[in-house]
Amino acid sequence: MTMHTHSHQHDHPSPPPIERLCDVAVIGGSAAGLTAALQLARQRRTVVVVDDGTPRNAPAEHMHGYLGREGAAPAELLSIGREEVRGYGGEILTGRVLAVRPADDRSDGRFRVELSGGHTLLARRVVAATGIHDELPDIEGIAQRWGQDVIHCPFCHGYEVREQRLVQIITHPMGLHPTALLRHLTDRLTVVLHDVPGWDDRAEATISQLEDAGVPVVRTAVRRLITGADGAVSGVELVDGQRLEADAVMVGTRFHARLDALAPLGIVGSAHASGLGEVLEVDPMTGQTAVPGVYAAGNVTDPSLQVLPAAAHGGRVGAMVAFSLAEEDLRSRARPSGEEGDWDARYGTGERMWSGNPNGTLAAEVEGMPPGRVLDVGAGEGGDALWLAEQGWDVTATDISGAALAHVGAEAERRGLPVTLHHADANAPGAFEPGAYDLVSLQYGSFPRTPEQRGLRNLLGAVAPGGTLLVVGHDLAPLREAVDPAEHTWMFDPDAYVGVQEIAAALGLQDGWTVLTHETRPRPAGAASSHHVDDVVLRAVRAG
Ligand SMILES: Cc1cc2nc3c(=O)[nH]c(=O)nc-3n(C[C@H](O)[C@H](O)[C@H](O)COP(=O)(O)OP(=O)(O)OC[C@H]3O[C@@H](n4cnc5c(N)ncnc54)[C@H](O)[C@@H]3O)c2cc1C
Repeated sequence: MTMHTHSHQHDHPSPPPIERLCDVAVIGGSAAGLTAALQLARQRRTVVVVDDGTPRNAPAEHMHGYLGREGAAPAELLSIGREEVRGYGGEILTGRVLAVRPADDRSDGRFRVELSGGHTLLARRVVAATGIHDELPDIEGIAQRWGQDVIHCPFCHGYEVREQRLVQIITHPMGLHPTALLRHLTDRLTVVLHDVPGWDDRAEATISQLEDAGVPVVRTAVRRLITGADGAVSGVELVDGQRLEADAVMVGTRFHARLDALAPLGIVGSAHASGLGEVLEVDPMTGQTAVPGVYAAGNVTDPSLQVLPAAAHGGRVGAMVAFSLAEEDLRSRARPSGEEGDWDARYGTGERMWSGNPNGTLAAEVEGMPPGRVLDVGAGEGGDALWLAEQGWDVTATDISGAALAHVGAEAERRGLPVTLHHADANAPGAFEPGAYDLVSLQYGSFPRTPEQRGLRNLLGAVAPGGTLLVVGHDLAPLREAVDPAEHTWMFDPDAYVGVQEIAAALGLQDGWTVLTHETRPRPAGAASSHHVDDVVLRAVRAG
């Protein structure tokens, strides 16, 4: 919860690397990761989720067995989940985590989370919700139909193939585990023993049982899948040339926990009891890995979890991470704001981030206005606040970052300018004096969304009757361009922050506001960044 001037939209594919602090970095923004993030954002933790867009069930058109969302498209669930996390200010970045290491300065036990494109998160805790990679049997045609009419789980898609001609291809004794379920779903099941290493008496006993119950069992390897003119599975061809007609095919996979990013911490997978792959072992209660502070949730820890239990696991692990942070803070008698810490870290380096000039659009819009009381929200290094003071305005500079305000205060003193400093989080109750300012200015500033929009109400409420609200933001269109996650990670998520559009929409819903300007226009020269995009300008007056 914050108010600051950051320029996240300057982040084009080749910007200088940025380092951001957050409470929790979540690797993987699918069922488990998003649910963990939701828990943590609702515990007022700064959460940044990084996701490279490859959830395990992506090939499937529908997701089944998820109470409340039965039959939804997998992407739809994630889209709803992302909005829910962002509604509490949690960020979701499209990109990839390449490596997690202990941070150079480990005084507060942080991890350095390295992202594709060169940016870095410094996180107090890490949650790996990276899922697994399914290794499909090496049979011609399987990969092409995977997630469609080649299925792997009777609970996910068994109902959809009920009473159909179903061929189950067994490649491991564990493949027989779901066969009794399949037999119940369809009486047109054929079991094919393809190439089954580790065949044992138990497997043979199961086969006898199936045969006794009338299930045909074929002991010949598969050559390929056959598809019809519409591309759908129509059968299975065996190595002896025999063809089995089929509407759908069931196979098991081998699986590999997606752990590359954790390797620098020495975290590796362990053999799964099934003998079918590796998973990441975690504490069954907390989800913590062998490395304190690093947690994991979802399929990466247990490939049998469907979407709903994977989400539930994420929810529990998120809660456990929240406990661990809160208890650590209690021990150190601190109650830190992750947001404030992030901005203090950046403004506290002693290096100037921006140009020091006032924002050009502010200067142009203020021209001709009689000076009065102004609230500069997200004052940052004070370029606007100091300039407004020079123009005769009675300036209150506010920011969540005490380090930023210290800089503004020192510069104001050096120049002999009267500037009132107000250290506040825009999302805090009563952050700004209500109805007190002739001009409230928010220049490229932003604050995390909350469901009740407290920050937004604080902002509008600060404008005096007859006063002006001036909001300038970046045109977000370039930030929504698709990127290759292997090459680049967007470093800020604008959708987690209150944007100009949202402020304009709120004005439209309230009586007593007249919008004078709401437009996109080129940004005037003079700003620090060379990566800037167009401005979106919103100017409105409150009835007197
Ligand atoms: C074909 C198929 C169909 C399925 N159908 C169903 C169904 O109908 N119903 C059901 O309940 N279950 C279904 N499942 C199971 C379902 O896919 C899992 O239960 C679920 O995906 C587990 O969620 P998760 O969050 O643990 O992992 P995933 O959903 O796999 O998500 C992992 C996320 O981590 C991200 N990621 C990984 N590494 C990185 C990195 N280094 N940096 C950034 N991001 C990273 C990925 O992009 C991905 O979004 C199906 C599975 C398959 C294979």
